[in-house]
Amino acid sequence: MKVKARLFDKLDENKVKCHVCANECTILPGKVGICRTRKNFEGELFTLIYGSMISKGTLDPIEKKPLYNFWPGATAYSIASIGCSFKCQNCQNWNISQASPSENGKSGFYTLEGMQNRRMSLVETTPIELVEMVKKSGAETVAYTYNEPLIWHEWIIDTASLLKLEGIKTILVTNGYSTAVARKELIDVGIDAANIDIKSMSDEFYKTICGVKSVQPVLNTAKEFKSNGIHVEVTNLLIPNLNDSVEEIKNLSKWIVVNLGPNTPTHFSAYHPDFKEPSKDRTLFETLDKAYNIAIKEGLNFVYVGNMRHEKGGNTYCPNCNHLIIGRSGYSFTKIDITETKTCSNCKFDLNDVIIGKIERKSSHRFNMY
Ligand code: SF4
Ligand code: SF4
Repeated sequence: MKVKARLFDKLDENKVKCHVCANECTILPGKVGICRTRKNFEGELFTLIYGSMISKGTLDPIEKKPLYNFWPGATAYSIASIGCSFKCQNCQNWNISQASPSENGKSGFYTLEGMQNRRMSLVETTPIELVEMVKKSGAETVAYTYNEPLIWHEWIIDTASLLKLEGIKTILVTNGYSTAVARKELIDVGIDAANIDIKSMSDEFYKTICGVKSVQPVLNTAKEFKSNGIHVEVTNLLIPNLNDSVEEIKNLSKWIVVNLGPNTPTHFSAYHPDFKEPSKDRTLFETLDKAYNIAIKEGLNFVYVGNMRHEKGGNTYCPNCNHLIIGRSGYSFTKIDITETKTCSNCKFDLNDVIIGKIERKSSHRFNMY
């Protein structure tokens, strides 16, 4: 749906400058920004994807986002649109992230070589319709995910405020490439949690693999979300020979400990070749195991391994006595050893500040499309 954008300046000659993400595109009349979802119509900026969803939504385990220390066992009503502020060579969701919306937001198309004949339909939804669908599903949370949610700014602001009134938690699964002004609006509307991809600590990686200038806006988003009470977990996808050196993993772990705190859940995730395949190799178990051990050594208390089975990497341990408090196999619990008041059953350490929300002890995750 085409809706007037928030957060843009009018420039001379009918140009506009968008401040929704850190690309801060200057857009000429009749043109779109880097994400392809915002278009300048005669000196006014419009988003073309307001309420334009790839489906009515999907019910996912919250652990799939991944969020392990936020409402464990809850269901996330996952919604997505098309477009992204990045062009990651490894994108696993490139068929939505690299699509472009039609001017009325009812469908998507591609400018990618060899894909010009492909189109997809989008489901137009209003904020009230979304809230009703989520309530009917019984999900405790809504995740804006799969493509990049930060470019869906107006839709997120309008829907998150309504979802909040219903007591439904909101989650961003994001590349974190935000501006100060957009972050403030997301914080003010009361976003509850975010999984932020810190893809590397190197600007060079962001330039060559993601097509943007720097990691710094991502780090700023993580810090500001955290310091304003949003629950933050970090994901780092380890791509063979591109960002998986001991030095890179140490730098990232140190930065998280110092800037977000040692209790920040950190997920190291396995890569497989996709889209433009910046590496032809898959991540080895040894690399994930190495990352797990480095991060623990650097002082992180909640380190997880994703996309590959790892003896400890799915589990949550007490940060005080290292007792296994939540055991997981895939997205299912194998053990929960936390008292009803959320203290460690072994040492009585208070876990309320590090495991947020209710633990759904008898979680029966549904994986269906809604
Ligand atoms: S959201 Fe980001 S990429 Fe899209 S137009 Fe605005 S500044 Fe550019
Ligand atoms: S930021 Fe995420 S969705 Fe966007 S291109 Fe990169 S991997 Fe894909």
